[in-house]
Amino acid sequence: MKKILKGLSLYELKKFFENIGEPSYRAEQFFQGLYKKRYTSFDNFTNFPKTLRDKLKEIAEIPYLKLKKKIQSKDGTVKFTFSVDQDKEIESVWIPSGDLERKTICISSQVGCTLSCAFCATGTLLDFKGNLKTWQIIDQVLQVEEIVGERCTNIVFMGMGEPMHNYLAVLKAAHIFHHHLGLGLGAKKITISTAGVISGIERFIQNKEPFNFAISLNHPNPNFRAQLMNVDKKYPLMDLLKVARKFTKTLGRKITFEYVMIPEVNMGKENAKRLVKLARSVNCKINLIPLNTDLNGWRRPTEVEVEEFKELIKESHVPIINRRSPGKDIHGACGMLALRG
Ligand code: SF4
Repeated sequence: MKKILKGLSLYELKKFFENIGEPSYRAEQFFQGLYKKRYTSFDNFTNFPKTLRDKLKEIAEIPYLKLKKKIQSKDGTVKFTFSVDQDKEIESVWIPSGDLERKTICISSQVGCTLSCAFCATGTLLDFKGNLKTWQIIDQVLQVEEIVGERCTNIVFMGMGEPMHNYLAVLKAAHIFHHHLGLGLGAKKITISTAGVISGIERFIQNKEPFNFAISLNHPNPNFRAQLMNVDKKYPLMDLLKVARKFTKTLGRKITFEYVMIPEVNMGKENAKRLVKLARSVNCKINLIPLNTDLNGWRRPTEVEVEEFKELIKESHVPIINRRSPGKDIHGACGMLALRG
């Protein structure tokens, strides 16, 4: 079987070139060629002797994801469906902001998801079909940028899947996005999220990872969170908050709590009060997201309801992010990815 060179760390590439009798500086040239110059075939590496290019063609490959579908929203968001390993599909989303300064790519880390959060189409409507490999995570960004003809300013691991369940591939991809010879994106421009898998958060802290980190919180009451998120049964809210405090103390930076607002479920005065109390105990930001799906007969909150809830949270003096939900009309907004048109 040919060796897949996309997705290898610089260290792994050095080993590869050493093993085939080449100087290790070839690894840096190859890494830059793939990620900075966006070469897609060995023939592009004209800085390599022809004999080496021929040898690489024989023993190695540079695979790419195949585009299956591309749909554009009226708000500028574009959703891409890619084929993976012939029989599976994943989605990635290009999200330009209103002022066009911020261009985010939301990428998937798994095919489907095992966690089945009650408000999420990926977890409730799709079967789980496995983890993505590092190159399949990276290639979502390379392909999306190639197709839209622009470079992103931010990458978020908030598409299909629980990133902490594919920890090594996700972190390896993030480091390639960040590496100055790779995509060269600042660590603060890369956000990795989790539904609350504490073992992964512990690992992230231990490795002192430099990336932004977000926890999907969604209910401030320990008695109710598990009804929304299965993961809470294994990793309860109180333990999650403890590890979030450890994160902010050890790494010296804020953590983001994502909060999907669902009327009659996690909004209203009582929940706001609890959320304020909880937020004050952690060095955090809160990202309020109006529900985008209509699963379980739930509805999206009205603008007035969102504003009221936001006002209640403001009392905590915790910074609030309340972004619009781009890509709703193409099933490309937060929680909607389920291979639907
Ligand atoms: S919200 Fe994330 S972790 Fe939860 S089911 Fe959806 S993809 Fe999985």
